[in-house]
Amino acid sequence: GSVWLNFDIQPTAQPTELQNRVDKLKDPGFGRVFTDHMAIVRYEHGKGWHSAKIESRGNFPLDPATAVLHYAQEIFEGLKAYKRSDGGVNLFRPDANARRFRDSADRMAMAQLPEEIFIEAIEQLVRIDRDWIPGGEGSLYLRPFMIASEIFLGVKPSAEYIFSVIASPVGSYFKGGPAPVSIWVSENYTRAAIGGTGGVKCGGNYAASLRAQAEAIEHGCDQVVFLDAVERKYIEELGGMNVFFVFEDGSLSTPPLGTILPGITRDSIIALAREAGRTVREEAYTIDQWRADAASGKLKEAFACGTAAVISPIGTVRSASGDFTISGGAAGDVAMGLRKQLIDIQYGRAPDTHGWIRKV
Ligand code: PMP
Repeated sequence: GSVWLNFDIQPTAQPTELQNRVDKLKDPGFGRVFTDHMAIVRYEHGKGWHSAKIESRGNFPLDPATAVLHYAQEIFEGLKAYKRSDGGVNLFRPDANARRFRDSADRMAMAQLPEEIFIEAIEQLVRIDRDWIPGGEGSLYLRPFMIASEIFLGVKPSAEYIFSVIASPVGSYFKGGPAPVSIWVSENYTRAAIGGTGGVKCGGNYAASLRAQAEAIEHGCDQVVFLDAVERKYIEELGGMNVFFVFEDGSLSTPPLGTILPGITRDSIIALAREAGRTVREEAYTIDQWRADAASGKLKEAFACGTAAVISPIGTVRSASGDFTISGGAAGDVAMGLRKQLIDIQYGRAPDTHGWIRKV
């Protein structure tokens, strides 16, 4: 049945002044500028979800024994609100984020938030902070998250949770079009094992990826790509993006689901490419095959994808056993075409034939 909570809307008494907001929106970068409000919903075992609120953005008072601070029972999501040229606002597939959030909660033994409440919290926050959505190629990045808030040091699922949504205006990820990224193949660290948490969005996955990402940067690369934890040869995904390969026959392949995050951009790209008549395989692909196909010319393009950057072409791949480039390190036509198709749908410039857009 449908689950509903009435949000108590309490607009901030101290909204950011107009000129201050305009200045902040000029060059927001990523994740450092925040809007005036946040959504909060609480959960208590036996009582369920309650006290849904939109209120002034502020600190959470946390007792030092709060469960999340010790055992990392935490999950999150990431999606964007886009301003259309008619002034309206589009959310892209928020229902898919709501579902993935429930799956993440289930894996982390957390209370599962009804999808209706997840979407309502986002919509209410976007409505109250809509003046914070940048125009042009910018967007409002939305960060729903949930923490275990019971005050108890025992190792067991928390009996209390705080669900919250905050919002951060972000600029175009790549000014002047996407530049191909270089990636470092992590041979020392893995991200996920069968039966582990790789397929869900828990904070711990990202903490565990940071050392490998630091190694990528030490080797002059933008991003890390992880291999499977069993045979240490199959490509899995980047620290925060899925990956696709484009072959000379026009087909695409992408690693199968299981230990990787089921990206919503990944799913959308599979749909768009298949509609365009391309074959898309969800299939294991090794680093050695990648190197061989890049050398023979069988591989035409490789690209990473995710909500933040949409699609980033992969130019160079570096590993302890040598480097190689794809398509001479330039952005490929297939990646750029899919990128434009997706962005046009997100900003409402192309018809939404899939029911992916939710207007706010
Ligand atoms: N993989 C990981 C590990 C990620 O953090 C993300 C970003 N959520 C993605 C893939 C891409 O997922 P999406 O397309 O849903 O943003």
